[in-house]
Amino acid sequence: MGSRFDITVVAENEMEGKRYIDLAIAEISRIEKMISSWDSLSETSAIIKNAGIKPIKVDLELFDMIVRAIKISELTDGAFDISYASMDQVWKFDGSMKKLPTKNEVAASVSRVGYKNIILDLQAQTVFLKNAGMKIGFGAIGKGYAADKSKQLLISMGVKAGIINASGDLSTWGKQPDGKSWLVGITNPLNENKVFSWFPLDNSAVVTSGNYEKFVEFNGVRYSHIIDPRTGWPASGLTSVSIFAPKAELADALATSVFVMSREAGIDFINQLPNIECIIVDNQGKIFESKNIKLNTIKE
Ligand code: ADP
Ligand code: MG
Repeated sequence: MGSRFDITVVAENEMEGKRYIDLAIAEISRIEKMISSWDSLSETSAIIKNAGIKPIKVDLELFDMIVRAIKISELTDGAFDISYASMDQVWKFDGSMKKLPTKNEVAASVSRVGYKNIILDLQAQTVFLKNAGMKIGFGAIGKGYAADKSKQLLISMGVKAGIINASGDLSTWGKQPDGKSWLVGITNPLNENKVFSWFPLDNSAVVTSGNYEKFVEFNGVRYSHIIDPRTGWPASGLTSVSIFAPKAELADALATSVFVMSREAGIDFINQLPNIECIIVDNQGKIFESKNIKLNTIKE
C-alpha cells in the first residue's frame, strides 16, 4: 500500500504470534490488490480503464467500499472525494514535478473530478465513471480499511489484543498483557521529539493526515498531497489532523476531509459527529481540539 505496517499481537508464544502476524499481512496484501490502481489487473483498474465507456461489475467488497466513500463525500460537501485521482496528471508527489501547474491546467484536471459522476448500480453490482478521463483512488481510506479488516480477522481467530500500526495510524483491540489500556502518544509534527498528550486507545483507532511527509515546494510555498477536489488546489493552512474514531477507515477518511475543510469548519463538523474527536495542528504549530477531548499536557 506504499506504506509500512507494524503489527503487534498478544499471544501465548512467539510461534503463535508470528502465525497471526502472517495472517494479518496476507489480509493487507489482499486488500491492496483489490484497490490498487497500479496493478493493471485489479478491479479498480478495470473501472478506471472503462471511464466514459461502460459500467464494470465488481466484488461486493469493493462496491461497498465505494458506497461508503461516496457517503463521506456527501457528508463533507465534497471535501473528500475518491475521484480526486484524475488530478494525478497535474499534481505529482514522486519528485517528478518541476513547476507549478497553470490555472488552466488545474481547471482542466478538476473538471474530471466529481463523486456525483460515479454511477453505482446495486442490482447489477457495477461501477461506472461517467466521464472519460475520470479516475478513482483509495489513498485516503485504503490504509484504514486494511487496518480494520486485519484487526477483524485476528479477532475472529481468537487473538485477544493487538495493535495494527499503519505508518502511525493506530488501531487497537483488547488490553496490554498487564491489563492496562494501550496508550497512544500524540506529537506535534513541528516538534516530533516531544509527546504532548497521551490517550488510552480502547478498541478504536487514531489516524493522522499531514503535509509534512508528502508534498512539493515551489517558491517557498508547500503544496500538500491532500487536494481540495472542488478547486483542484492542495489544501493549505494545517500541518496535521488526527482523528479518533471507533473504526480506522472512517478516521482515515475524516482526517483527510478535515485537512481539506480547514480548522474552524473541520472542528465544527467533527463536533457534530458522535464518538469522533480530533486534534488539529495548524501551520504555526498551534493546537486545537474538538470539544470532548481532554488533552493531558505532559510536562517533561
Ligand atoms: P496519508 O496517506 O499521509 O495517511 P491521507 O489519509 O490523508 O494521508 O491520504 C492522502 C491521500 O489521499 C493522497 O495521497 C491522495 O492519494 C488521496 N487524496 C488526496 N486528496 C483527497 C481528497 N480530497 N479526497 C480523497 N482522497 C484524497
Ligand atoms: Mg485519510
